[in-house]
Amino acid sequence: FNVPTPHNEEVLNYAAGSRERALLQSALTEARSTLIDIPMYIGDQQVRTGTKLEIRPPHDHQHVLATFSEGDASTVTAAIDTALAAKADWERLPWEHRAAIFLKAAELLAGPYRMKINAATMLGQSKNAYQAEIDSACEIIDFLRFNVHYMTEIYQQQPPISPKGIWNRVEQRPLEGFVFALTPFNFTAIAGNLPTSAAMMGNVVVWKPAYTQIYAANVLMQVFLEAGLPPGVINLIYVDGPVAGDVIFSHPEFAGIHFTGSTPVFQTIWQTIGNNIHKYKSYPRIVGETGGKDFVLAHASANAEVVSTALVRGAFEYQGQKCSAASRAYIPASLWPQVKELMQRDLATIKMGPVEDFGNFVNAVITEASFDKLAKYIDNAKADSGVEIVAGGGYDKTKGWFIEPTVLKVTDPYYVTMCTELFGPVLTVYVYEDDKFDETLEVVDKTSVYALTGSIISQDRYAIDKATYALRNAAGNFYINDKPTGAVVGQQPFGGARGSGTNDKAGSMINLLRWVSPRTIKETF
Ligand code: GLU
Repeated sequence: FNVPTPHNEEVLNYAAGSRERALLQSALTEARSTLIDIPMYIGDQQVRTGTKLEIRPPHDHQHVLATFSEGDASTVTAAIDTALAAKADWERLPWEHRAAIFLKAAELLAGPYRMKINAATMLGQSKNAYQAEIDSACEIIDFLRFNVHYMTEIYQQQPPISPKGIWNRVEQRPLEGFVFALTPFNFTAIAGNLPTSAAMMGNVVVWKPAYTQIYAANVLMQVFLEAGLPPGVINLIYVDGPVAGDVIFSHPEFAGIHFTGSTPVFQTIWQTIGNNIHKYKSYPRIVGETGGKDFVLAHASANAEVVSTALVRGAFEYQGQKCSAASRAYIPASLWPQVKELMQRDLATIKMGPVEDFGNFVNAVITEASFDKLAKYIDNAKADSGVEIVAGGGYDKTKGWFIEPTVLKVTDPYYVTMCTELFGPVLTVYVYEDDKFDETLEVVDKTSVYALTGSIISQDRYAIDKATYALRNAAGNFYINDKPTGAVVGQQPFGGARGSGTNDKAGSMINLLRWVSPRTIKETF
């Protein structure tokens, strides 16, 4: 079979007066005015417990949007048992039927569910309309369509050579056991991708989203079920991390983890899996995308407008809460006055506030803990005579967790905010002498403990070539004359190495191959 050729979903722009803006606004109004109680989904059961927790918009922390039920160890066991019970039927289902389910999910998200999922992402995660559209509509749809396409390529790969009298073939089996998908707050698309990519390849899944993502995860689960996903194939549970981990990682049928989240959590998980390795039937697949401390390096030949735009968009879209966000910049002294002026000009026009007002570019950071952490780094910077506050520096938590887009200029390229992942709207700039480009390349590489994304901005081809080589291990996604964010599925496969993860490239054939275990069959005639 051939599946339809995948294409990137077109991004709607929600222009003032447009039909789509009116539709999204009414979806927002409806979501805000309906208090829902979100269940867990285990098999064909919607599960509720006596432990209810609240979901509040980060930009409006006095408003209760929803409640959800928290499970415990017994919930995790039930989800695993249900997944394993669904396995036999699911993995026997011919792959074109699995493809049809996920293609239909993409259609539902592109059409009837588009405003609902975008409103959920805007309210639950405080993402503006444009960032929500790119994330919870287009990117998920792209993940589903492109993954289905890569799946068909895997199943239709060239067979091995068969000499006369022999038929050699390779069967791509699902993993034996269940896969655990652990998804982060910052992208609804990642929540859509991590469980479905494993499920698509015939696996059954236990899915645990960050609590700050449950509001949108609930809509996604409804879409998957409406698309015809048999109950039990993906089971969605809300359980405290360590409680869930204890059950999952000591289970003999644990077959793999598909993770996006912080580096320390991933390292702890890896260690736990290592300690339990003798308990499992097979060596589990460990696939993770973790932290980032992503750089923008400008060369003296760079166009200052390009540098400024890359920094403002790269650092402050979605409040910098992207693993890929530009958070450290290296700017040559001759270019800095112009870049500084352009950034200050652009940042002065940016509005901050709740997502319901489409004029607000910057919204709230995800939690009070995140707000407090960022405010502390900003206070420390203000108190440090070696740091200049180039822009922002303000914060306010009366109504929501609002941190102003903040640009710090430091004199020490190893200053704490040049090296530490903050996951918020704080950019640190180090200005280097124009003739120290080569030395700066060394500093950038040395401080790339993470290696997710990075940019070189230059009009000098020799400088571009030098940076591309010198920084070859410092970023899994390397951008020339652009911001280091906004990878598009099917265009720039996404992922990094070093402290940033296993680099299995979300939304690619490399990733899908982690969810199958090939069996070679030789038949002699
Ligand atoms: N794929 C996103 C980008 O390229 C980032 C995803 C993440 O933050 O984990 O900007």
